[in-house]
This record gives sequence, structure tokens and C-alpha cells, in this order.
Amino acid sequence: TAASLLLIIAFPIPPINLREELEPGKSSCASRRHCHKSSSSYHKPPSPYLLSVLRDYEQRHKRCEPLTKSFNRSFFQVSSHQPSHVDDDDCSYVVFTRPTNGLGNRMLSMSSAFLYALLTNRVLLVDFGPDMTHLFSEPVPNSTWLFPEDSRFGNRIYGSKVDDFGSLMKNNNNNHTAVLANNSSSFLHVNLGYGYDDYDKLFYSNEVQDGLQKVSWLILKSDQYFVPYLFLMSGFRAKLDRMFPDKETVFHHLGRYLFTPSDQAWGLIARFYDAYLANADERIGLQIRVLDTKASPTALVLKQVLRCAQKEAQILPPLATKQNETATKKLASKKTSYNKAVLVASLSSEFYVELKDMFWKRASASTGSDGEVAVGFHQASHEEVQRSNDGSHNMMAWVDIYLLSLCDVLVTSGWSTFGYVAQGLGGLRPWILQIPDTKYGGGETLWGNACRRAVSMEPCFHFPPSYDGNKVGVRVDGEEGGGSPSVVHCEDVGGGLKLV
Ligand code: GDP
Repeated sequence: TAASLLLIIAFPIPPINLREELEPGKSSCASRRHCHKSSSSYHKPPSPYLLSVLRDYEQRHKRCEPLTKSFNRSFFQVSSHQPSHVDDDDCSYVVFTRPTNGLGNRMLSMSSAFLYALLTNRVLLVDFGPDMTHLFSEPVPNSTWLFPEDSRFGNRIYGSKVDDFGSLMKNNNNNHTAVLANNSSSFLHVNLGYGYDDYDKLFYSNEVQDGLQKVSWLILKSDQYFVPYLFLMSGFRAKLDRMFPDKETVFHHLGRYLFTPSDQAWGLIARFYDAYLANADERIGLQIRVLDTKASPTALVLKQVLRCAQKEAQILPPLATKQNETATKKLASKKTSYNKAVLVASLSSEFYVELKDMFWKRASASTGSDGEVAVGFHQASHEEVQRSNDGSHNMMAWVDIYLLSLCDVLVTSGWSTFGYVAQGLGGLRPWILQIPDTKYGGGETLWGNACRRAVSMEPCFHFPPSYDGNKVGVRVDGEEGGGSPSVVHCEDVGGGLKLV
């Protein structure tokens, strides 16, 4: 329509590279669903092998998508417990289901499920429930990844008789592979979420993976970014190394492939970006996630944010003090030389209000001769409390995440999956802020600093199974001789794992 064409012209962001590579000549912002910023910070294209894996995936997805002949055959065969064995031509699935937790957690575990689907020749379907259906465009053009809403389908995969992987493992502790072969003609629930137990964790064993190949329907519940652990599994490693010669780009590529804003989300993103961010010389994203407002009072967090942004990351100018006021007055008579637009993403509006006032009422103490740095603060929404089962709330979250990903520099909050998604989509290594917590001494931080630069743009897997009797931390990638490790502990979560 004319209206959408106008929006495209008004939002001159270059197209996503992956879609362009998959369908040459098709993207170039021909439609909004294909327009992504080609990040100012990261330009490395996907490997040819990843592209060929994605092309194969798209063909498989089209052949097996919901309500095709192959889908119906597979689904109803399993529903009626007819014995079946999975041929190469048959469709097998991983259904990402009824997510709990916030959008960041959900997007990270969906991308992990997608990578698992690529590795095991499955098709990824999603059963979002009503609070997420309107956020994204379909990743595979002219196809759907939505599990049918019709209760005939839902009733079967969530039925009380459906097996649970962890329980199967527990009840058949000695023969994991055989029990999976016996249960190949059923739906199997797999729990890889926070709080999973040792039997659920057997999912990460190579031997069990061999058995799971025969199970055509896996119903996955997870809120974790479990990708780093797939790199520790010898059965997958060779293919992963070919797909991702640069390990730091896994979520960057997969996330940008899977998550394109819907037209509704795109409108909100584009209007905000054009009005407040587009014309700045530099865009800074500040993502402030306070989990416990009592233990982390606003004034303390604000102090920490400033210490990080002004002193350690040096992305915001210091403010004038009494001593350098005269020099600043002289500067103030000159024209502003440089414009910084700061996007504040937070559930609360307090940080935005305080920062805006602070940088407006006091001059910045730039010492150069070029005049003052102008710093403008902007906030797209302040939802006050997390309501992750609410569709319009999730839309605001998605808009904030996407806007953060369009920034040139990011400060994110430690432990926050919301920030991980933004940094990954944007291809940015953020400054990770440690939110001060009075329970642990307030101003004290893990690193002595208020923030620390991330070693890679990859998200952190918060709760991995322990690896090889705690070998983790020395060299977690299992490459015993030489070479640099590709999986390390996260900066913000000691027991977590991330790719570098
Ligand atoms: P995490 O809890 O920080 O790991 O991130 P999640 O995304 O999993 O869950 C937090 C949820 O709280 C988000 O999905 C949003 O619903 C809400 N939320 C937290 N911070 C913000 C923010 O800066 N902006 C918006 N719009 N929502 C937020």
C-alpha cells in the first residue's frame, strides 16, 4: 500500500543480509518484513554452508508445514500410536511450546530450538498462545511456523498420556536408547527450562540424541539459550563448525533470520526511530533491568549507570562542575558539534526522567574546542511491571529490544536475556552493567567496575548442565590440545556458558 511504501522510504535501513543471500534480488527493502538494518558494527556475512542449510530447511519446512499431507500423516500416525519408523523423507518436528518467562528468554530458547531443528533435520513449529502471535513475520516466506490453533491438535500434544522425556529416562535408567526406540511413535515432551533435573539433562548426551532421532515429535519447553551446549556435543560439533566459522555470530544470524518484526511492530519501531534516533550522530542504547527494586534503589542504580557510561565506557560526556563552569560557559556560546541520542529501555520511567534532566540542566564539560556535545534522552515505553502474558505489553518489549539493536553502542544489564537479544540482533558487544544490589553490599560489584565490555555478542546460557566433572572454565570446548576455546564462562553469570 502507499502507506507502507511511505514508511519504507522514511526508514532508510538497509536490508537484512541473510534474506538477500537466500533469495537474491528479492529483498532490497521490497517489503517491510525484509528490511533490517545491516548493522554498523558487524558485517560478516553468513557462511555459504549456513546458507545452504537454511535453503534446505526452507524446502523441508514447506513440505512439512502444518496441514500439508506430510504433516497430517505424521501427526495422526503418532496420535493413534501407530508404529512408525522415521524415513529420511518423513517429517519430524520440534514444537516450541507455551512459553513462560519474558520475551527475551523466549526468543533465545526459540533460536536454540531452531538450531537444534537444523542439526537434526526437524521442522520448528511454535505454539505461542495469544500473547505473541502478532509480534513477528513468518520466517519462511509463504509458509507458516504456527502450530495449528485448532484444539484437535493441541489436545493431543498436551494430553495427559503424552510421555515426558525426563520421566522416561528416570524410569529406564539403564537403557536410554532402547526406551526411546520403544516410544518413537508418541509425542515426547522435553523440558530444558530453568529448574530442569538431571534426567532432563540427559537430552545433552550424544547417545540419547541418537535415540531421539527416531522420535518424530518433540514438544519442547524451555526458557534458556542452550546453543553453547550444542557446541559441546561431539555429534553436532563438525556441522556447527562448518555452519559458523565465527562462533560469535550464531544468534546474530539465527535471530535475524527468525525474528522479523510484523508490520504492526515495524510501524512502531520506524516511527520512533525516525522521530528520535535517525538524525543523531551517535545512538546509544541504555538497557536498565532492575529485578529487585528494593535491593537496587533508583539512586544507586543511576549512580552505577553514570559511572559506567561516563567513566568506564566513556560514551557519555562528564557534566560541568563548579570548577570548570567558566570554560563551559564559553563553550555554550558555540554551536553544538555532536549529537548523541540515548534510548533508555526500562520498565520504569525514573531513569529516563533523571538522566534527561541532568544532561539538560547542566552543561557537559567537554574540553575540546568544538563546542558542546548535545545529549538527548528518549524512552519508547515504560510498562512499570512485567506482564508477559499480555500481547500489547510484549509488543512494547519487542519494540524496545529492536530499537536497542539499532543503536551504535549498548549498555545492557547483567543477567538480562532482554539485553542479550538486542545485542545479538544488533551485532554489538555491549558494556554489561552490574546492577548494584544492597543485599550484596550495594556499590560493590563483581568486577570492581560498574560495567565491563562483553567478550562476544553471544547470549549467555544461564543454567547449563555441568560439563565433564566441572572441567568448565579451563577449556570447555573439549579441544584438549592448542586452539582457543570457543565456549567460555559468561561475564555476568559465573556458571553460565557463552560462545566466543
Ligand atoms: P530478562 O528477565 O531481563 O531476562 O528478560 P525477559 O525479556 O525474559 O523478561 C523481562 C520482561 O519484562 C520483558 O520481556 C518485558 O515484558 C518486560 N521488560 C523488562 N524490561 C523492559 C524494557 O526495558 N522495556 C519493555 N518494554 N519491557 C521490559
